[in-house]
This record gives sequence, structure tokens and C-alpha cells, in this order.
Amino acid sequence: MTSIFTKIINGELPCYKIAENDEFFAFLDINPNAKGHTLCVPKKQVDKLFDLDEATYSRLMLFSRNIAVALKKAVPCKRIGLSVIGLEVPHAHVHLIPLQAMEDALFCKKVKLSKNEFESLAETIKAQLK
Ligand code: 5GP
Repeated sequence: MTSIFTKIINGELPCYKIAENDEFFAFLDINPNAKGHTLCVPKKQVDKLFDLDEATYSRLMLFSRNIAVALKKAVPCKRIGLSVIGLEVPHAHVHLIPLQAMEDALFCKKVKLSKNEFESLAETIKAQLK
């Protein structure tokens, strides 16, 4: 079954895109733990992160690192947390979350953002990408 992330990657559903290359796609999480919460996703639909082949997994981590470096510059925070959950969307992805406190990493407290805020965040993060 086509995942919601594949539909986003294919442009069938909208998103606030941060970056993409041949293999990977990064966009803002629609229900963020914190401002700037970003998802990094392989374009090839594989359910579980640890089912990716080693080379793809390594390249996804490198792609995520590049996004995390830009995110840290763009969003005031103590550090960028990285989480892998996958209980909601069966398409491997890495969560990058700007952290001020442990609770930002817990997927309990959510932040509501307007369309304008999402758009402006995405632009601010993109401007920090190398
Ligand atoms: P997980 O599968 O790691 O448990 O959670 C999936 C994440 O994807 C959640 O943080 C959720 O807010 C996010 N998400 C689910 N559907 C969409 C969507 O349609 N657009 C975006 N941008 N994020 C989504």
C-alpha cells in the first residue's frame, strides 16, 4: 500500500518541504513536538528503518545530519534530538527535533503552528542548508 509519505514525495499530498535529493526527502512534521520538527525519509518505501540496506541506511543518516546542522542554526534550541518511532506511518523515517527539554522528545506535548508559521520555518531552515 502506498504510504502517506510516498504520496507527499510524489507531490500527491502537500508538505512543507525542506530538502530532497535522488534518494531522500525532508519535510516538516505536520504535528510537531517542537518548532522545526522535521522528518527525513527515503524515497523508496520500506517500512522499518532497520530493514533498509546498510548503504541506504548510512546515506539516510548522512542526509539527516546535514538537515540537523541547518536546523540547529535555524531554530533556537539546546540541541537537535533524533528519534525513530514508526508506529504511525509504515515508511522508514528519522525524526529530527529541536530540543529545549526532555519532554520535547516524548511525543506527548505538541505544538500548533499556522500555515504561515510552517512556511516561514521551512524557509528559515532551507536558508541554512549548505
Ligand atoms: P511515527 O510513524 O514515527 O510514529 O510518526 C509519524 C509522524 O509523521 C508523526 O510525527 C506525524 O505527526 C507525522 N505525520 C503523519 N502524517 C503526516 C502528514 O500527512 N504530513 C506530515 N508532514 N507529517 C505527518
